[in-house]
Amino acid sequence: MHKATTGDSPHWRCGPAFTCGRSATKTRTRRSAWSALTAAGENVDVRYVTIDDVRWELNGGQPLTPPPQSDPLTYSASSNRQNAIKLLRDAATVIVVAGDAVPSVHLHAHNGSLDEIIRILACVRGRRVLLGPMANHVLANADAYAGLFDALHTHTITSKDIAVGSRAGAPFEKLRADRDSFIDLVGELGWEPVGEIELYRGCTRRRYCSFCNEPVKSAAVVFRDLQDVLDEVHQLYVAGVRHLRLGQQTCFFSAWNRDVTKIEQLLAGIRDGCPDLEVLHIDNADPLAVASPAGARISALVAQYCSEGNCAPMGMESFDPAVIETNALTCTPQILRRAIDNINAVGTQRGPAGLPTLLPGINIIYGLPGETHRTHLANLQGLDSLMTAGVMCHRTNVRQARAYAGTPLAGMNADIPPSQEHFTTWKADIDSIWDQPMKQRVYPVGLRLRGLHSFFVTGRGTWFRRLGSYPIQVVERDAVVPHYTPADLTVTEHAPRFIYGVRDAG
Ligand code: SF4
Repeated sequence: MHKATTGDSPHWRCGPAFTCGRSATKTRTRRSAWSALTAAGENVDVRYVTIDDVRWELNGGQPLTPPPQSDPLTYSASSNRQNAIKLLRDAATVIVVAGDAVPSVHLHAHNGSLDEIIRILACVRGRRVLLGPMANHVLANADAYAGLFDALHTHTITSKDIAVGSRAGAPFEKLRADRDSFIDLVGELGWEPVGEIELYRGCTRRRYCSFCNEPVKSAAVVFRDLQDVLDEVHQLYVAGVRHLRLGQQTCFFSAWNRDVTKIEQLLAGIRDGCPDLEVLHIDNADPLAVASPAGARISALVAQYCSEGNCAPMGMESFDPAVIETNALTCTPQILRRAIDNINAVGTQRGPAGLPTLLPGINIIYGLPGETHRTHLANLQGLDSLMTAGVMCHRTNVRQARAYAGTPLAGMNADIPPSQEHFTTWKADIDSIWDQPMKQRVYPVGLRLRGLHSFFVTGRGTWFRRLGSYPIQVVERDAVVPHYTPADLTVTEHAPRFIYGVRDAG
């Protein structure tokens, strides 16, 4: 089923850190690398392996965690697992996709570290190319990694620049010209992928938040042609992808400058062209856009066309006015409340699987300039007032600021923020006053959730979920259930970041 080789050296692509292909950014980056290699020559044989495949082989064809527990280091298997190292050794070109734009933690996947990648590259005889956020790190430490890679691509890769490297995203037309079929790629994945779709690059605001590296990645706002998006979606659908997330851009609601008509054409076009799609979700929303009159109409469209369990994560970042002011943040507590109300007005009804159709998510950042102990109090008060108001929220992400090169934050002289010492306890406070009670509200005891599947086993039990955007994870205590076993579960208990349930008998 792969393209035939004609005596050319085959081109392989190694994708370390493919956090299960289910993690957002890398699915799109992986596709662009696949397309670039495929378009680079006639009869090129392109293959895909994961860092997990290589770890598996280096460990003698065994997981690193003994069964029955699942192993996050070797979990994501491609169809090339049995000869991953030979593929890498013999390839004419190896493109390594690595690094996270935003730090993320996954139960069932561990990103490949640079040390791991260096070790693996020792066996590669062909051209070595690095693609993704890790390229920025290598560029910033050029002396330490001199000679390790033949080309570095920080954002995208195309057939025309594989060997020379690139420091900015390629024009969408060039990516479109390389794109052909994803049938072979999807056929090599040992899991059900969620296809991540990008609608535009850049931030539509005039003044940028201090911590954000999106304006560094793309100084200008560039929207994709609608038909280009629909074509890519259809190519994925033809390849067998049934789960999609419109999530690579900074705000789904700001696509084409909040053009409600065009956004409806997008959603309706996807539904028309992909009648058997199982999941259609969005990601990333600027609360300012969601709170606007256009935002209210777009929320209704998302509820109408997308599938249940959907989430619009919004960057509140901080409820503290001093932090908001110092860092030019986009949101205030009042704007957030209007945005949540717009989403809750159309999204709280449950679908056939028992999940709310569309709920907001909230992102909080600690460690920004201007932070004091009062910042944490303001955050707790802000969340508590939302809880008292009865809103429904899907998930909350609390993280520490990271000063990316080129952002205003990187140039700001600030005192050491108190969260440096208190982050763990402050996060635990939010868990107890907000996250766990919200889980109880959204997933009450006795609620039946349908159409889940098991995907991981830990000492706690077996973890179940549906695919999608930040899906709720349901643990069946002390159970050992084979991966991908379908199940319906009834909610029994709550933790801050997941819930417990029991499987229906039979
Ligand atoms: S956080 Fe969002 S609103 Fe702020 S600069 Fe980044 S993309 Fe723009």
